[in-house]
Amino acid sequence: MYQLVDGDRTARAIYSGGWRPATSSVEVTEKATGKALFDAGVATRDDVAAAAESALAAQPAWAATLPQDRAAILYRAADLIQRHAEEITWWVQRETGGTAMKAGFEIFNAGTELRQAAALCLAADGHTLPSTVPGRTNFARRVPLGVVGIITPWNFPMLLAMRALAPALALGNAVLFKPDVNTPVTGGVLLARIFEDAGLPADVLHVLPGDGVTGAAVVEAPQVRMISFTGSTATGRLVGQTAGRLLKKVQLELGGNNAFIVLDDADVPAAAKAGAWGAFFHQGQVCMAASRHLVHRSVAEDYIEALAAEASRLKVGDPTDPTVHIGPIINERQLAKVSDIVDSTVAAGARTVTGGTANAPFYRPTVLSEVTPGMPAFEEEIFGPVAPVVVFDSEEEAVELANRTEYGLTAGIYTGSTSRGLSIAGRLRTGMVHIGDQTINDEPHIPLGGTGSSGTGGRFGGVANVEEFTEWRWFTVQEQQTGLPY
Ligand code: NAD
Repeated sequence: MYQLVDGDRTARAIYSGGWRPATSSVEVTEKATGKALFDAGVATRDDVAAAAESALAAQPAWAATLPQDRAAILYRAADLIQRHAEEITWWVQRETGGTAMKAGFEIFNAGTELRQAAALCLAADGHTLPSTVPGRTNFARRVPLGVVGIITPWNFPMLLAMRALAPALALGNAVLFKPDVNTPVTGGVLLARIFEDAGLPADVLHVLPGDGVTGAAVVEAPQVRMISFTGSTATGRLVGQTAGRLLKKVQLELGGNNAFIVLDDADVPAAAKAGAWGAFFHQGQVCMAASRHLVHRSVAEDYIEALAAEASRLKVGDPTDPTVHIGPIINERQLAKVSDIVDSTVAAGARTVTGGTANAPFYRPTVLSEVTPGMPAFEEEIFGPVAPVVVFDSEEEAVELANRTEYGLTAGIYTGSTSRGLSIAGRLRTGMVHIGDQTINDEPHIPLGGTGSSGTGGRFGGVANVEEFTEWRWFTVQEQQTGLPY
């Protein structure tokens, strides 16, 4: 099996009209060891400007490509992901600091995103409508937007890119894609290589790794009609402001601070297992992580004890070791942020039940009890392996606590009663809610996204992808002109 990351062509290069040498590069490191792995090209503002021109020129021919031919490219890309799963896993483990299980999650879902998107190529794309005008036929079609800008974060860099790339391309758009510089291979080079080998015309997809300067250039490029942004709420606000000023469509999928609610009738050991998974998967660096554990007072002591036992048994270390559950934190800045939030929460009166310490680049799975509103671990998105536990006395209080932050991404509810779960779910302000489960769930055909400071109501998945990556166009056909006023 050949390698997708072929150093000669893909190192210090950007993918824009094929592989081209970049004027600068960034060292890609193995997050657990700090070892250098690769030199990835970084795109400049000029690269973005040239890519935008090229994408604009290429898009009409791509939109006019027969739908079965567009679909065939996406199916081939899905097959290539499967075929290169071992190489992709190698990069996910080293570059993102994820376990093999995390790699499997990204690979499976990225492939499913492609197959789902391929099916959109031949799906119905509009309506015929009655007309108030004699002799007129009305129809409305979903048409591609043109050039779409896609900006993604580092935590699930392949999957979060593919959930936007696959539908944007399937529906006839050209794409300027800006991956994060922490993970330019898993989130950029590998994707460029997959689409290249699948036969996507080179100018239809431009892969332009870089930092905020490159990202801002993508948002501002006049040829870009829509921005699909996944990242923090702070950066999303900036992207939204620019998009508003420039009158561009924008899809913002932002941070979360998700409630995992455990009611008094819950199976506590099962809830603690679920809570541990939701809090600690990929070191808690998940927008949908169970980040506030709201537990009924009558079961709180048992829950905290069981959750701490789960946390303590998790092995921390290099994720290339198959016995490891918890890998490294992505970078020093993020590790410092996790430590600061835990330390300041404890200083404000919370208790560390287990964990609470770093051994760079790792942070031990941590359970904090006696957390209350106003403390940093309650208010802020931690993005680390930390489970703050907050006690409540009534369902009303649980709902009030869950809804108390600015975020509204997802929630989980553990209860012995589905009807109680549904009743609480109906009162939570989130884009997603899971009864009898923790907070991290992703199925590529389901509309996924948040409300409040977690997003502006955009969704990824299934029918939502058509709404996001196309726009309505009204066509009329007049059989015979009648009744013009003059
Ligand atoms: P970030 O906002 O720092 O960066 C995200 C992307 O934006 C990166 O590619 C970055 O280079 C780019 N960027 C930075 N400044 C920019 C600017 N001024 N203009 C345009 N682009 C710019 O986020 P992060 O730290 O990489 O990712 C973690 C955050 O992402 C967390 O808040 C997490 O909750 C969120 N996230 C949300 C979802 C979701 O679906 N809601 C999924 C994953 C991650």
